[in-house]
Amino acid sequence: MSITLNKDESNRRELQIGLECPYCNVYSRMAATSVPDVSMVIATRPKHVGLVHQCDACSAPVFLRYAVKEIREDEVILNQNFVELERPKERFAFSYLPKQTEVLFREALSCYSANSYNAFASMCRRSAHSAFEALGEGGKMQAFEELMVAQEIAEIDDATLDPIKAILFEVNDDSEMPILNRAQAGVLLEILKDIFYQCFVRRGKLTRAIRVRNLFGQEPGTPTAANSA
Ligand SMILES: [Zn+2]
Repeated sequence: MSITLNKDESNRRELQIGLECPYCNVYSRMAATSVPDVSMVIATRPKHVGLVHQCDACSAPVFLRYAVKEIREDEVILNQNFVELERPKERFAFSYLPKQTEVLFREALSCYSANSYNAFASMCRRSAHSAFEALGEGGKMQAFEELMVAQEIAEIDDATLDPIKAILFEVNDDSEMPILNRAQAGVLLEILKDIFYQCFVRRGKLTRAIRVRNLFGQEPGTPTAANSA
């Protein structure tokens, strides 16, 4: 499959894709609203061209880069695989993380959104180490147990999990880091999000919810902890 840009613009309406929008995070239809001048592409023969699509859900402009596959007399053929210049931002309940872990994990997720998967892996290692330290004695063991539970729940095989286990729990130096591809980085992302959720977010949310219930859920006339003393 490929995409054809005609000189007479006869197929403009067909130039649409389905994609997760980097602005509203909705998977939506995106029609091409800004397409390169075909005569100019034929004359200058660039290796790549840029198209702007418009998100159906939020109307934001989404920039995509396509490789030029073939240049003909009056049309240009593009490879259908495009590069997203802006990727959807990964979300997380950062406020529940210890401060230093939050800073490092935010940077890790920025690397992931920029398709820099090995920079992402290095930042995941630093985020994990910072989290273990914040959890105190037994923290690393607790996190490792969460990893084992996640492996069982999601039925992840050992070959997939081994590099992730090494990055988070075994490697002490960046030079020993395994090289990750996009798919492995995706698994690392979900695993570390799950570990952080179990170790910090779940406890934080539960503690806060119970505190709020204790504060507002008392029978009228019941003395509060503060005024009963
Ligand atoms: Zn959108």
